[in-house]
Amino acid sequence: MHLRHLSLVNYRNYVRLELSLPAGLTLVQGQNAQGKSNLLEAIAFLATTRSPRTAADTELINWLAREDPYPYTRLAAEVQRGDRLEQLDITLLPGSNGDTFRKQARVNSINRRALDMVGILLVVLFRPEDVDLVAGPPGQRRRYLDLSLCQLDPAYCRALSEYNKALSQRNALLRGLRERERQAAQQLRFWDEKLSETGALVIARRQWLVNALSAEASLRHLDLSGGAERLHIRYLPSFDPGQPPSGRSNGAASETGVSYATLAPEGVRAIFAAQLHSGRSRDIAAGLTLHGPHRDDIGFFLGDRNLRNFGSRGQQRTAALASKMAELDIMTTAGGVTPLLLLDDVMSELDANRRAMLLDALHIVPQAIVTTTDWRHFDHDLLAAALKLHVQDGQLHPAALQSEGMTKR
Ligand code: ATP
Ligand code: MG
Repeated sequence: MHLRHLSLVNYRNYVRLELSLPAGLTLVQGQNAQGKSNLLEAIAFLATTRSPRTAADTELINWLAREDPYPYTRLAAEVQRGDRLEQLDITLLPGSNGDTFRKQARVNSINRRALDMVGILLVVLFRPEDVDLVAGPPGQRRRYLDLSLCQLDPAYCRALSEYNKALSQRNALLRGLRERERQAAQQLRFWDEKLSETGALVIARRQWLVNALSAEASLRHLDLSGGAERLHIRYLPSFDPGQPPSGRSNGAASETGVSYATLAPEGVRAIFAAQLHSGRSRDIAAGLTLHGPHRDDIGFFLGDRNLRNFGSRGQQRTAALASKMAELDIMTTAGGVTPLLLLDDVMSELDANRRAMLLDALHIVPQAIVTTTDWRHFDHDLLAAALKLHVQDGQLHPAALQSEGMTKR
């Protein structure tokens, strides 16, 4: 996978950017608030057609451009996969009500649904917040699974987006039902069906990814922890998708998680539907859907101990790093091509040992783009081999490394 060229117009603080990128390593150095994260965000946006940072596309359009009579944002990429060259472009245009933006996606100049663009450019993105993956909120861990699965499997992406739409419809209905009970039971059945159909696929795929991550990450983790500790990543769904709900249980899966060999979406669908049915009166009382993949979590365990509660900060970081590196392996195997590795200023978050492991990965991937505030995080050989850019105020320039001498020390 080689991102050969990136063009941005009015994307955050990039008013205009035309950037050709070589294979291998590109290092982008800049002070705070100059555009390091924005650059990697833009690349991830082209891979997944959504921002890893925000759900509101309107935030992405350059503030000044918003005052234009016809404000728009455009992102385009030229991606080499094997001997194929693919052109991706996305334009964000004001929608009919002026507040929202609509997305226009094109692949090789032909209009496509945004979801159909996903999976052409594969990326693994590692951000400072990912260092806190283990201890952070569950939503962050769900997004982590979604980011990989969406790129690997367009059907997952579609199911997830339909699931989320159906979920907000069902929740709206539940809120209404609290007031006019039973009237709309028929409608509820419709949304239950939609949820269980799309949700079953989301659950089955997540469970597949978590098992795969666990196997790979535990190897990485053994290395990082000097062979002392064995990491397991477990899927913690909000109900047990392998067992029909029993009348008395609240449906929640155990805290130690589940790991089935393979969950088939058809089987999960029936169990999820039964779960929604048996939880209906509680859902109505709460005015929202209490079970489903929107409440999923994953846990990072050493033995039976969830590192979220019991791990030291160092242990949590090691687990997060092992899992990110595992993601790179799995995406490579399952996607058939090594993804573009994007590291957003994570070096300063890691100690020397973990930093070295991450730097090792930079040697084995065909292309990586790495941002930093400080050249000194990289050794002389790496700096010598890399394309070095400096970012300031949304502009990229070749870096004049006064620090070259400094790093030779
Ligand atoms: P740090 O080292 O602090 O992480 P960074 O280089 O990663 O900094 P970015 O997150 O890329 O910084 O943000 C760069 C600048 O872009 C910030 O000053 C931010 O306020 C600005 N910015 C964000 N959204 C927009 C937008 N829609 N239009 C214009 N500027 C924006
Ligand atoms: Mg940043």
